[in-house]
Amino acid sequence: MPERTPYIAANWKMHKTVAEAGEFVDALLPRIAATQHDVVICPPFTALSAVVERRYGTAVKVAAQNMHEEESGAFTGEVSARMLVELDVEAVVLGHSERRQHFNETDEALARKVPTALAAGLEPILCVGESEDAREAEQTDAVLQRQLQADLAEVEPGRIAEVVIAYEPIWAIGTGRTATPEQAQEAIAFIRDVLRERGAEADRVRILYGGSVKPGNAAELLAQPDIDGALVGGASLDPDDFAAIVEAA
Ligand code: PEP
Repeated sequence: MPERTPYIAANWKMHKTVAEAGEFVDALLPRIAATQHDVVICPPFTALSAVVERRYGTAVKVAAQNMHEEESGAFTGEVSARMLVELDVEAVVLGHSERRQHFNETDEALARKVPTALAAGLEPILCVGESEDAREAEQTDAVLQRQLQADLAEVEPGRIAEVVIAYEPIWAIGTGRTATPEQAQEAIAFIRDVLRERGAEADRVRILYGGSVKPGNAAELLAQPDIDGALVGGASLDPDDFAAIVEAA
């Protein structure tokens, strides 16, 4: 089975000014200097360049938190893949549940965003996950299958392994409630099966868990055989906490 390099991503959401982003990176870099993992920081658009400039020569990659599917046009407030690539951004978070919930991000848009990102040379970090109601109604697998089928509909099977998938149960994001390692493993193994059925080299796909990951629970989650990393929100705002999660992986 191919080795999957652990992938730990910091989703800062709408936090950190340019000055605060710079302070964070300066504090983080010495703490993770020896890591062999992929360490990815997802700042707000305004702080992308500040993080890119500081991470040159390090293992840290930079991801945007969203992008538009069109190359250019009358889309006020939006940013294209080409604009991100020009900044030396390497990846982009797509389909985060906060964007699906508050900004009407649809599966139709995601079906275009994922191949657009790949074509531009950006690594998509595609987020999928069920609501609490769906989990209680035992619809978790159905929701995950529907999202993956829709959002990856236009990606050739041979390129699916270039997409990083983040399993983020909505009920665990920013709530302090974490999926148990068994729940996360079960959902992520299911995601891998769906990708395999879609024709992907599923054993190569990095699949992350996201939802209230902290230094205290990271090791147990990341020890699960199918969990290849973490997408970390709240705990990624502090360089000590984030470095501890990187170390736990
Ligand atoms: C996230 O923003 O993707 C996330 C998982 O947030 P938190 O770690 O705060 O739950």
